[in-house]
Amino acid sequence: MISDGYFAAGSGGWIEVICGVMFSGKSEELIRRVRRAIIAKKKVQVFKSHLDERYSGIYHVSSHDGRTVEAVPVDTPAQIAQLVQPDTHVVAIDEAQFLDRTIVDLATSLANHGARVILAGTDADFRGEPFGPMPQLLAIAEVVDKLHAICVICGNPASRNQRLIGGKPARYDSPTIMVGSTESYEARCRACHSVPRRDEDQGRLL
Ligand code: ADP
Ligand code: ZN
Repeated sequence: MISDGYFAAGSGGWIEVICGVMFSGKSEELIRRVRRAIIAKKKVQVFKSHLDERYSGIYHVSSHDGRTVEAVPVDTPAQIAQLVQPDTHVVAIDEAQFLDRTIVDLATSLANHGARVILAGTDADFRGEPFGPMPQLLAIAEVVDKLHAICVICGNPASRNQRLIGGKPARYDSPTIMVGSTESYEARCRACHSVPRRDEDQGRLL
């Protein structure tokens, strides 16, 4: 079940994390929560880390009464800190996995000062290992939702980001973030996920 700000019953701020594999609907869920906060007449600011322009552009969130919020592209948590206004109730940050570890302190500070902080990000890299600041964010959050996509190979719930380079599974030692390369990604389940280590290791249990 997707939580939706039930923490609002208490006073003060809190942190929500929406995590999961690519294509699992994290951005859709973030937008849904932002839209509902706008309906509740909260002041909302939305940020999105830069590195992700490959497969989704800058987006707008609009409510039926015509109010819109645009996601502001940022490179660093420090930029978010500069842009957040004191009277903002909800700070939503998409693609949080690409931000540096100072996002943990910023999210904590914003929540301590009364903001509802919503962070969406993929919690594991293409190897299936923890990605950037996501493990810490999951640990400090009051509310965590882990979403799944559909495995493009077998149709089961997908929990892994499959990186492909030239149509073939990327090796374990390829860099975590490849900017401007010809890589592509698929959502896959654990059984269909493939991360070759060394040529001689392929097919062995490591
Ligand atoms: P995320 O932010 O987690 O990457 P998005 O919210 O951008 O996800 O996109 C989710 C949408 O992607 C789904 O609603 C669906 O239309 C589409 N989609 C594409 N491939 C898949 C897949 N393999 N499994 C589930 N949804 C997929
Ligand atoms: Zn599968």
